[in-house]
Amino acid sequence: MSVLIMKFGGASVNGAKSFLKIAEIIIERSKEFKKIVVVISAMGKTTNKLLKLARTIDDNPPKREQDMLISVGERISMSLLSMALQKKGKKSISFTGSQSGIITSSNHLDAKIIDIRPKRIVKALEDDNIVIVAGFQGVSEQKEITTLGRGGSDTSAVAIAVALRADFVEFYKDVAGIYDLDPKKNKNAKFFQKLSFEKALKIIQKSSHPVLHPRCIKLALDNNLSLTVKSFKNFKKQKKFTIISKKTFKKVVKNVYELI
Ligand code: ASP
Ligand code: MG
Repeated sequence: MSVLIMKFGGASVNGAKSFLKIAEIIIERSKEFKKIVVVISAMGKTTNKLLKLARTIDDNPPKREQDMLISVGERISMSLLSMALQKKGKKSISFTGSQSGIITSSNHLDAKIIDIRPKRIVKALEDDNIVIVAGFQGVSEQKEITTLGRGGSDTSAVAIAVALRADFVEFYKDVAGIYDLDPKKNKNAKFFQKLSFEKALKIIQKSSHPVLHPRCIKLALDNNLSLTVKSFKNFKKQKKFTIISKKTFKKVVKNVYELI
């Protein structure tokens, strides 16, 4: 089963209308890929707002309850995106981390993925659904809802790709790919079309606003999965993006460019 994993972050879903926009990108990609899983983050600053809300009750709220609260951000996004796809005539279903079979350790707010049992995802794909998965969250073996640490939905996307044996993950960001400096602040930032995992990790660890979470890069490296980072803006016109890969550039570029 060849599956495309697409990941959309908080910046791509800044308002309700953005779900209709990203639904169009997904539909465009569905012309090439029969099976698509989309991992989505909470809208804009939702996670920050929820954490702040908790602090209006208690300066040091119980971690379990914080996980119950902040996991809601991604649930809002997953349901709205599935509605947008269905509105546009596509079959789609959304799943929480728990429904997706993302099993984690039990340390609240910083849980690690220990297993993925993607039975429901696979069944939904077989039934021709575009599957939307809430990033950043899972369930412990004690059946408690957990979250993976800030920025954790990138890791959810890579872990699902590994579990479904996908060839690569497409990350949709508000920049065209990976630069040495933040391109929104530095006009002279250098763009990278191709990066090794090691170089990507170095750039990301130096950055105050990393484009990808370092943990997802390590997971992709361990599983020889290629990552592409591209912009969700002007999707159809965009030819520029970054590929992070262990494979030879030529081979990956050929595969990736065949798909756009
Ligand atoms: N919404 C979560 C956060 O803001 C997870 C993520 O964006 O990856 O940290
Ligand atoms: Mg977020």
